[in-house]
Amino acid sequence: MNGTILELSDIHKHYTNGDATVRALDGVSLVIGRGEFVAIMGQSGSGKSTLMNIIGCLDRPTSGSYRVLGKEAAYLSADDLAALRRETFGFVFQRYNLLATATAGENVEIPSVYAGLPKQKRSQRASALLQRLGLGERIQHRPAELSGGQQQRVAIARALVNDPLVILADEPTGALDSRSGDEVLALLKQLHAEGRTIILITHEENVARHAGRIVRIQDGHIVEDSGPAAIGRPETDSDALRAGSNGVSFSASLQEALVAAWRSLRVNLFRTVLTLLGIIIGVAAVVAMLAVGEGSRQKVLDRITSFGTNLMVVRPGAAGIRAAGDIATLVPDDAIAIRGLPNVELALPERSSRMTVRHGNRDYQTSIQGTGQDFPRARDWPVADGQFFSAEDVRAYAPVVVLGRTVAKTIFPEGGSPVGKYVLLKNVPFLVIGVMTEKGASPMGGDQDDVIFVPINTGLVRLFGKKYLSSITVKVSDTADIEATQERIENLLRARHRTEDFSVRNMASFLQAAMETQDTFTLLLGTVAAISLLVGGIGVMNIMLVSVVERTREIGIRMATGARMRDILLQFNIEAAVVCAAGGLVGIAVGVAAGMVLRYSGMSVVFSVAPAVLAFACASATGLIFGYLPARKAARLDPVIALASE
Ligand code: ADP
Ligand code: MG
Repeated sequence: MNGTILELSDIHKHYTNGDATVRALDGVSLVIGRGEFVAIMGQSGSGKSTLMNIIGCLDRPTSGSYRVLGKEAAYLSADDLAALRRETFGFVFQRYNLLATATAGENVEIPSVYAGLPKQKRSQRASALLQRLGLGERIQHRPAELSGGQQQRVAIARALVNDPLVILADEPTGALDSRSGDEVLALLKQLHAEGRTIILITHEENVARHAGRIVRIQDGHIVEDSGPAAIGRPETDSDALRAGSNGVSFSASLQEALVAAWRSLRVNLFRTVLTLLGIIIGVAAVVAMLAVGEGSRQKVLDRITSFGTNLMVVRPGAAGIRAAGDIATLVPDDAIAIRGLPNVELALPERSSRMTVRHGNRDYQTSIQGTGQDFPRARDWPVADGQFFSAEDVRAYAPVVVLGRTVAKTIFPEGGSPVGKYVLLKNVPFLVIGVMTEKGASPMGGDQDDVIFVPINTGLVRLFGKKYLSSITVKVSDTADIEATQERIENLLRARHRTEDFSVRNMASFLQAAMETQDTFTLLLGTVAAISLLVGGIGVMNIMLVSVVERTREIGIRMATGARMRDILLQFNIEAAVVCAAGGLVGIAVGVAAGMVLRYSGMSVVFSVAPAVLAFACASATGLIFGYLPARKAARLDPVIALASE
């Protein structure tokens, strides 16, 4: 037939519920021509909605053939059906089915978004349509602020926005009072008069009366068809208007997805914040913890390198064994012997203890460090006043001390040089022969000037009451030869002790051991942080799954108005990604703030870009990965089922 647009032949739709099969449509054949106004009449349960869903390509028949403009539509893919819907049909539902969170204008625009119309044209068209339907003042209103009749007119505007061939209205007046119902019917008649094809589904005789052709359906069969009748004014070719509906641009659908994501996140603000919190905590943890890890690493590194790479330390006890108490192996003579080896610049015997120093009526607890005459040279730490003790002082057990700056200031507060005065240690008078320059805080934060130096022999005999050293620090002349020198020291001590009861470590090995510990530490922190990020991601997935269930109807509406699976997938993925990316940004800020607080409280914290970038990337990836499953669930929903959901 000329002008035929829809052609159903022997369409069956069966629902199987356990054993029972419901034949909602049982062999329906129907031909609808361009410009017709058809009313499909029938009692509740007769199969009207099922028929409309098949005509509107929202659902597929169980069997039979359905042609739209000569093209077989019954077995198209989901996305091809979406395209066909978008281009051919405008839907008007009994319950309006507007998106509650979008304004009237935005609701009208939705089908044109999926048709790829540019933003400006969309809003122009939407406002023109709303104007025409008497809702010019209501463009910015949300559905909840509109009456039922107004909502239905918004729905009709939405059905018209893509300028479809066919308007499908399923009981459009069913939920309206009679006056609003009459307005809607008048509107449909007017659209018919303009040449549009209208299919109206109703169970009311007085509604059906308005149509030019009445098809009665009962128990899935067509029982009466008044046949093609008065066709409205021949259609002005509207195909030109439909231009652009094929090239659905990705950016338009991306934009809509972003807007929709933003809207839904804003509507569920509390939930969004809670979800965000999970990501924020995760990202902040990564940033702060890695900064702490890096800070501690730097600190250890500084401490070790500030010590000098040309130094070696000989300790009592075999390598790896840290015995408690006094290890009786290293003696001052060992230091003297080591000093005689080639490439050894100096060897400092050391032992220290905490003790009270007294001057006049002032008592002060400090660290007493027994060492050799080479100490200022070894540590690059000169004397400010007086002099350091000599080799002779060490050999002769001289009762002399050199004060650190802090000690000097504390026990000689009246100022003036302490050199030449006496202090008491264990009630023994010691002559102050020098004061060190100020060294300041150690990389660990301790006060390096809070110390008194005594010749090692004097210290061992008169103060510590022990014969053994806690370490010998060795400085080599040529760092390149440090390994060989270390070997020589080991051989020498082995010969002297007749056993390997000591260990020698150079800075390189210190550094390596320390860095290994540090790396483990950082890895541990990083793992904890990564786990919290994972937990945050699972939270996002959980919320997105809930969101999909809650918004099934919205998904149905979007699909009915032409959204493809891809669009729905994109929308939900973007929603998750937006949450995670926002959480990532805030998390970085919170992490930096937390790091600042820790730094302020004296911890060493070093921020680097990599953890922040990594955490942000992880958060965004989390959004995509954990958003994918819910998004896929949403996209796979059957439009009919989605629309039917409450
Ligand atoms: P109407 O719109 O005319 O009231 P419907 O087309 O909605 O009728 O339903 C026709 C028949 O198909 C009814 O008996 C209904 O119970 C049945 N039916 C509709 N949808 C389903 C479904 N998803 N599963 C099982 N039965 C269904
Ligand atoms: Mg129905």
